[in-house]
Order: sequence, then C-alpha cells, then structure tokens
Amino acid sequence: MFEFAFWILCCAAVGYYADKKGRSQWKWGLAAAFFSPIIVGIVLALVSDKSVERDVAELRMGQEQLRDRVAADEKITEARFGQMEGRISGAAQATGALEEVRYCPSCGEALRSNDKFCSRCGEEVSWV
Ligand SMILES: [Zn+2]
Repeated sequence: MFEFAFWILCCAAVGYYADKKGRSQWKWGLAAAFFSPIIVGIVLALVSDKSVERDVAELRMGQEQLRDRVAADEKITEARFGQMEGRISGAAQATGALEEVRYCPSCGEALRSNDKFCSRCGEEVSWV
C-alpha cells in the first residue's frame, strides 16, 4: 500500500514537473503511471523546456514589435527632419534673397551682390 502511494506521488511529481516545463500535467502524469515515473521523469528532463521556448518566442515577438516601432519612429523622425530641412533651406533662401538686395549708401541705387562700385554714382561698396 505504501508503495502504491509512493508511486502515485512520483506520478504527481512528474505531472508537476511537466507543468513547470510548459507541458501537459495529466498526459505526463498518466504516462508516468503507465510506464514508470523514473523513465518518464528522465524523458521529461531530456525534452526541451516548452515554457522557455514560449518565453523566447514571446521575447522575440516583443523585440520584433519594438524593432517595428523603432523603424516607424525613424521614418517619422526622418520625415520631420526632411520637413525641417526644407523649412530651413527655404528660410535660408528667403534670407539670401533679402541679403542680395543692397542699396548704395550714397545714392540709394539697388546693387547686385557682385558689384564693387555703384553703377550710378561710382561709390565704392564694401560687402561685409
Ligand atoms: Zn550710388
């Protein structure tokens, strides 16, 4: 009678161990009862841990999601940078256009950027 109780306890232990490894508690417990808790326990120890596999799969999925999110963020950042660059270059062009228009300090004639002397009065123009 004691042996039978020990046998049941061993089967339960195998079932518990199987559950810990992410496998069917009842299937492994019954297998232990049918064959031998020692043999089934050894087999269970040799088979890959499904709970670890599941964790790894979940982790990998999480990483992929993270990567996707980072990639999406990069795209958004790139788009924003592109917009910003466009805005900056546009502003620079606007500023450049404003700077290009200069007037002679002597007579007020509009000058071109490469003029060194005023085309109307001949005043020397210094470009800073
Ligand atoms: Zn002038």
